[in-house]
Amino acid sequence: MLKNDRLDAWDRENFFHPSTHLAQHARGESPNRIVTGGNGVYIEDRNGTRLLDAFAGLYCVNVGYGRTEIADAIAEQAKELAYYHAYVGHGTEASITLAKMVMDRAPDHMSKVYFGLGGSDANETNVKLVWYYNNILGRPEKKKIISRWRGYHGSGLMTGSLTGLELFHKKFDLPLDTVLHTVAPDYFRRDDLSMSEADFVAHCASELEALIHREGADTIAAFIAEPALGTGGLVPPPAGYWETIQPILKRHDILLIADEVVSGFGRLGSMFGSAHYGLEPDFITIAKGLTSAYAPLSGSIVSDKVWKVLEEGTDEFGPIGHGWTYSAHPIGAAAGVANLELIDKLGLVGNARKTGAYFKAALEDAFTGHPNVGDIRGEGLLCAVEFVADKDSRTFFDPSKKVGAQVAAALLSEGVIGRAMPQGDILGFAPPLCLTEQEADTIVNAAKKAVDAVL
Ligand code: PLP
Repeated sequence: MLKNDRLDAWDRENFFHPSTHLAQHARGESPNRIVTGGNGVYIEDRNGTRLLDAFAGLYCVNVGYGRTEIADAIAEQAKELAYYHAYVGHGTEASITLAKMVMDRAPDHMSKVYFGLGGSDANETNVKLVWYYNNILGRPEKKKIISRWRGYHGSGLMTGSLTGLELFHKKFDLPLDTVLHTVAPDYFRRDDLSMSEADFVAHCASELEALIHREGADTIAAFIAEPALGTGGLVPPPAGYWETIQPILKRHDILLIADEVVSGFGRLGSMFGSAHYGLEPDFITIAKGLTSAYAPLSGSIVSDKVWKVLEEGTDEFGPIGHGWTYSAHPIGAAAGVANLELIDKLGLVGNARKTGAYFKAALEDAFTGHPNVGDIRGEGLLCAVEFVADKDSRTFFDPSKKVGAQVAAALLSEGVIGRAMPQGDILGFAPPLCLTEQEADTIVNAAKKAVDAVL
């Protein structure tokens, strides 16, 4: 247990926290938590409070906390060679091995992986490469990117623009005008309640077609999407969505960027969400599950089709002018190798599928029929419960009541961390992929008590 009793004051005086109410934090009006340890699905804070982390940090600690295999790999790499860059053909055993391991797991039509630091910079890389690709092909007008409302793709200028959530735009002068948004594939939140799921998919498709038509296909370069919506509500796509959307993109020669920062490496019960839903992307964004967040590392996986054009570009114009100091950082790469080995060894992709199904069924048992539970959904170990004021008319609560945040707070007091997702009263779960059925029961029992306390 930490003895420094000034940490709280130092925190509030010095630390600019992300996604935090800055004024309340500085004034000491909102709680902070100083986290000191973790093991399996549990974390512990400096007061000795042990919490079941049913959101795996920010859905990233996929193998669970306290894995010494990864810690040892990091330490060994740091002692041997903490850093060397990856520019002009430099590599390390860790970065080259990890590239091979990623490509062995990626869909067959993918060609190479570019390593970055986090999901946001990987998506930034993807957009730059999309632009480069169209410039090399002599199509300088084909540059706009279509994203979906409720999509999450990062917090940078471009990636924050791609993100389709109000909080990430408001007062930041975003989105940038090269970004267009289309309908969120969220059937539960459809505007017209009389629509069947198939009608809704047709509606998503016709809205996309209309947008492409309005803007001109020759101005649109790419469509970016999470295979299943993440931060925007943890929503698996309606049946037939991808089968309907992909041909539209192909017909208009629009590249597909599958943002698999959350879904990559097992979260949905398949190695990649692209394989899970039959996507054929031109780019796949990876981060979180690549190292289970034991060290920062992300990647942009490019397809054979894109790679061929990138090669042509460098033959014509010389080396590609894109690189980060920390691209393929050896410590991140060593963590990645140990992490992917562990995912295989522990069978975590299969466990996400199996325990995910058990967990979702337990949520359904607990909440089906509850008058304020409008939707229970999930795929693998990505699940959510959405609350409504009235179920029959699907009337949402007044957002100012912050029902979702209240339920998440009540859950925390039961010893379980869930996440109140933005733009709705949605309680999200994305636990480590090593979750057991018993731990799933613990989460569901705590969630029942939390919901009873608030509703
Ligand atoms: N893409 C998706 C789907 C994400 O969920 C996230 C983060 O949650 C990002 C991109 C951005 O990743 P990072 O926060 O590592 O920049």
